[in-house]
Amino acid sequence: MKVFDHMTEYGHEQVVLCHDKQTGLRAVIAIHNTVLGPALGGCRVWPYASEDEAIRDALRLSRGMTYKNAAAGLNLGGGKAVIIGDPNKDKTEAKFRAFGQFVQSLGGRYITAEDVGTTVEDMQNIKMETNFVAGLPKMFGGSGDPSPFTALGTFEGIKSSVRFKTGAEDLKNLTVAIQGVGHVGYFLARLLHEAGAKLIVSDIYEDKVMRVVKEFGARAVSGDEIYGVEADVFAPCALGAVVNDETIPRMKYKIIAGAANNQLLDENRHAQKLLEKGILYAPDYIINAGGVINVYFEVINEYNEERVTSKVKNIYTILQEVYKISAEEEITTAQAASRFAERRIDEIAGIHQKYFKQ
Ligand code: NAD
Repeated sequence: MKVFDHMTEYGHEQVVLCHDKQTGLRAVIAIHNTVLGPALGGCRVWPYASEDEAIRDALRLSRGMTYKNAAAGLNLGGGKAVIIGDPNKDKTEAKFRAFGQFVQSLGGRYITAEDVGTTVEDMQNIKMETNFVAGLPKMFGGSGDPSPFTALGTFEGIKSSVRFKTGAEDLKNLTVAIQGVGHVGYFLARLLHEAGAKLIVSDIYEDKVMRVVKEFGARAVSGDEIYGVEADVFAPCALGAVVNDETIPRMKYKIIAGAANNQLLDENRHAQKLLEKGILYAPDYIINAGGVINVYFEVINEYNEERVTSKVKNIYTILQEVYKISAEEEITTAQAASRFAERRIDEIAGIHQKYFKQ
């Protein structure tokens, strides 16, 4: 691929190819934008079929982080790292420490974290070489499990979407279909149940389904059935790409608002299809920002659950703004989310530093 052409088109600042002879580490660190602050984004380990594929993924994911961090109102830019390898057999302490040294060499322009294929143990190995790593467990001085905050943000996002779509102030007697009741889905189910919503759930693991059936009186459906149920809200909390040409025609929901990443198979085309069908779509990276907000307070060394909670609850207001842009400018909510994030970056880029901040 033509890396500079791609960087020029999408505005990336820096791409670092990291190689360590002794460990065989091959990694790509992509820094998309640092206008708002250091570029934060996870480190993925994946057996990419080619170098091109790895670089392309790092470029795509780092840009996504710029939008996510900007829209959440964080003073963070967007970055991402990928390590080429099989997470089940190619990971060693030495490799992650070598990677940590590369992160350190960037002097804080990029801050890494857990992602697909990496674990808390890998982050601890990275931390032996650099402090520019975040999202560690509380016992290691980190901000701990982000899932309850991701669930809280998603819950606020559902309330915001219901308010915009129907004018209702609460969720009493509404039905929400949750796909995937793992870490985020379970906490979300609890919040929705407490708010008086009825639940329909699916998961590939029976025990996870039974837990929410027992605790929150949810109705269980199997597999693909969830796409066609009578529910007001669909909350995907399992996989990406679940909103596509096959599932949209089956949907009877008014709203799609869930925590999963990359819910739309084709962001532009499927957001447009949902708009035409009258289904309100809460852009995934806006509604699922609770986790990154939790990490942010660790990054700035000001971790405090009250502050995290308050900022996560603000997702309600951010979504109202996004929906307003979408309605006023007659664009999809996905396009409106990009516009919302870009506006903040442009505004901050436009202010000139006049005084030295210590
Ligand atoms: P998780 O692995 O704990 O839960 C996912 C659940 O989905 C599991 O219980 C799994 O069995 C189930 N599942 C898998 N395939 C399914 C299918 N076809 N149908 C129904 N259920 C299925 O993951 P999580 O941490 O709860 O994250 C859920 C989603 O939210 C993921 O897409 C993740 O990327 C996204 N997300 C999570 C966080 C976070 O803080 N954990 C933050 C942002 C985004």
